[in-house]
Parts: sequence; C-alpha cells; structure tokens
Amino acid sequence: MTEDKKLLLDDLENQCRMCQRCGLARGRHHVVFGVGNPLAEVLFIGEGPGEQEDLKGEPFVGKAGILLDKMLRAIDLDRKQNIYIANIVKCRPPQNRDPQPEEQELCIAWLRRQFAVIRPKIIVCLGRIAAARIIKPDIRIKKEHGIVFRKGGVLMMPVLHPAALLRNPADKPGAFEDFLRLQELILQHCGHTYTDEQKEVILAERNRG
Ligand code: SF4
Repeated sequence: MTEDKKLLLDDLENQCRMCQRCGLARGRHHVVFGVGNPLAEVLFIGEGPGEQEDLKGEPFVGKAGILLDKMLRAIDLDRKQNIYIANIVKCRPPQNRDPQPEEQELCIAWLRRQFAVIRPKIIVCLGRIAAARIIKPDIRIKKEHGIVFRKGGVLMMPVLHPAALLRNPADKPGAFEDFLRLQELILQHCGHTYTDEQKEVILAERNRG
C-alpha cells in the first residue's frame, strides 16, 4: 500500500514537473510538488511556494517553514514522517504575490490528484488563501482559525499562516491552541499518525496538564 501510493505520487510529480498550464511556469526554478508520507492521514495545504521553496523545490523551507516545523514538532508531527504538505499552486508567484484565481483554478487539478492518492482524514489549511479555496470562499481567517469544518467526510481546519505569525507574534499563542486542538482531532480520528508510544505520552501529558 505504501509502495503503491508512493509510486502513484512519484508518477504524478514527474508529470507535474513538466506542467506549463499557467504563466507561473515561466519564472520558476522548481515545481514544488509536495513533501511527506504518502500514507499520511493529515494533509497540510499552503498557498504557493516562496523564494526559498522555489530554489529548493520543497514547500515551507524558509523562515515560515522553520516556524511551521517547530509547531509541528510541538504536537509530535514531522513533515517527513507522519504528514504530507502541499500547496494550492506548485510554482512561485512573482514577488510572492497571492496566486491569482485563474492560476489556482488551473493548478488545483494537481492537488485534487494528490488528495485522491493520499486520501487524508484531516486537512489543515495554512492561511486565508488555502482556506478560502478549500473550505469556503468567505472564510475570515482571523476569526475562524481553529474551527473544525467537515466537507465530503473530511475534517478541515483553517489555521493562521506561519508567515503571518512571524509578522504578528502576538497571534502565536492562539495559533498554538489551534495545533493542540488539531492534536486532539488526530487522536480521535486517525489510526496511525501517532505511534502507540506517542499516544501514551501525549495522553499522559494531557492528563497531567
Ligand atoms: S503553477 Fe501549477 S498549473 Fe501553473 S505551471 Fe505550475 S504546476 Fe502548472
């Protein structure tokens, strides 16, 4: 099963690397397809690659990515081990502008195909653009982050984008609360994201706290 999903994702990535569907293909160094475990039960979705991501070919590797990794580690998640991370658009918008609706529309087919292979139980949308595209167009991210939505049998949670947290550190405690809620959701709904040993430690810590 792992091998099947890995092969399917590798094949999809090879096709995606050649994509010229929208104008973002012209300025890219790399197509940033995604990173993670093909068997992940939790899929994180951001809006698109920035400069560092474009240079390295991996999502969330700049300053915002370092913060994201820290927050993931705090709830026993790891981008290489037990989650998958992808973006709405796979190529970098110039000067890090928001991806335009038509670019999102053209690129989202790749994300749909990633979703069809991975079949996550939980989707976490990192920031307004991803949440508006995936959860609901009129999302108010400052007010609705941390709320759990259910769509087509999948649980979905919008969270503040780590780059926004770097700009507004006062929002970090609220964002951390959202991650603790996410951990609770994972404990309730996912089978293998956490090992039995991790579950024991998490539950013991929660009982103490
Ligand atoms: S952003 Fe998406 S649709 Fe546009 S060229 Fe890159 S992979 Fe293709």
